[in-house]
Amino acid sequence: MRAGSADVIIIGGGIVGSSIAYHLTAAGCRNVLVLERESHQGKGSTGKSMGGVRAQFSTAVNIQMSLYSIPFFGRFEEMTGRPSGYRPQGYLFVAANERHLEYLRANYQRQIAMGLKTVELLKAEDVMRLVPQLRPDDIAGGSFCSTDGFVDPYSVMTGFMLRAAEQGAQLVPNTEATGIELDASGVAAVRTTQGTVATRVVVNAAGPWAARVARLARLDLPVEPLRRMLVPSEPFDKIAHTAPMTVDMRTGFHFRPEGLGLLLAWNDPEETPGFKSSFDRVFVEKILTRAVGFVPCMAEMEVNPSRGWAGLYEMTPDHHPILGEAPGAKGLYLANGFSGHGVMHSPATGKILSDLILTGHSDLIETEALGFDRFNDGRAIEETAVL
Ligand SMILES: Cc1cc2nc3c(=O)[nH]c(=O)nc-3n(C[C@H](O)[C@H](O)[C@H](O)COP(=O)(O)OP(=O)(O)OC[C@H]3O[C@@H](n4cnc5c(N)ncnc54)[C@H](O)[C@@H]3O)c2cc1C
Repeated sequence: MRAGSADVIIIGGGIVGSSIAYHLTAAGCRNVLVLERESHQGKGSTGKSMGGVRAQFSTAVNIQMSLYSIPFFGRFEEMTGRPSGYRPQGYLFVAANERHLEYLRANYQRQIAMGLKTVELLKAEDVMRLVPQLRPDDIAGGSFCSTDGFVDPYSVMTGFMLRAAEQGAQLVPNTEATGIELDASGVAAVRTTQGTVATRVVVNAAGPWAARVARLARLDLPVEPLRRMLVPSEPFDKIAHTAPMTVDMRTGFHFRPEGLGLLLAWNDPEETPGFKSSFDRVFVEKILTRAVGFVPCMAEMEVNPSRGWAGLYEMTPDHHPILGEAPGAKGLYLANGFSGHGVMHSPATGKILSDLILTGHSDLIETEALGFDRFNDGRAIEETAVL
């Protein structure tokens, strides 16, 4: 590790810390250290993610973050010299009733008003044309955005970090942040398992462990880990590999093509917060019941439970991230609590944090909306389009 001091220390080398390091160094801030307690990147949530990216959200701030991030994924190779694996195959939300349609219509109007050009509302027959294998009985219509799709989270994370390193940042593996020292001016240093480094700016980018890192500065951060499980199928050719991420609005079950098969996801409402990282085989039956109810031919799909995996979402009370400087700890910046959207919003997060650290302001979003203080001031915002 570079001895002595750093302009900025980022705690956590996942996709969020890597994007912040990239954006800071691209803006000319060179002495940036990224502390990662593991021997290599990707052992946190980023390595477990489904890689979905979408602009179809219900709140202005989430739509704005996607409007920056998704074109960024499209230009990722030009910006970083590495691939992002961006596949614009779309997200298809499938409505089963008038209430769902009304919700999609309201979101659509907000998305269009904010400048999204690639989203459309669909009639039931258009939905069936896109994914003919869906059970037709319960389909009332849907919405589809052709620039939504998927990326390879590991490639994006390492692409950001490799380019950040070329621009002057240093990734320091096997190094855990164990203390944040404060003096009368705010942050003064970070204690680590490899020694203490002086700095006036620290970024908490510790994913599901964010609340623990915040406690190092005596800050109580409302971010909780919540297990999410994914199930890949064996090779399956009954659904086209060009299919979109397809979401059943009745149950929240969704799937996308992955390799020669499909990747299946569902948010089990019985899951409770905590650092649970093991895959529960009982989940396979639960998710397959939802899958077959939505796509009958999935009854013929084979699944090997030992290939399922679990990771952690980082949840906040209003399902929006907490971005910006922490109250009462000058120089401590938060980039936490993405509530299932940390991969897709990593480019915007890097840009916003870099702007705030270097200039005190960002034009990308109204940053007060995502500030920590919103929970104390009664300004929490609810995102209902959470998968
Ligand atoms: C199953 C699953 C599916 C998902 N699907 C999607 C999706 O489709 N689209 C999407 O956008 N998002 C998705 N997400 C969410 C997304 O993966 C996360 O929001 C995102 O990866 C968070 O990135 P991060 O860099 O903040 O955290 P992480 O990737 O967890 O990185 C944090 C890093 O901090 C390190 N660290 C922690 N404490 C310390 C310390 N004290 N000192 C040094 N290092 C420390 C950890 O080792 C870790 O490497 C999914 C998540 C899961 C689990």
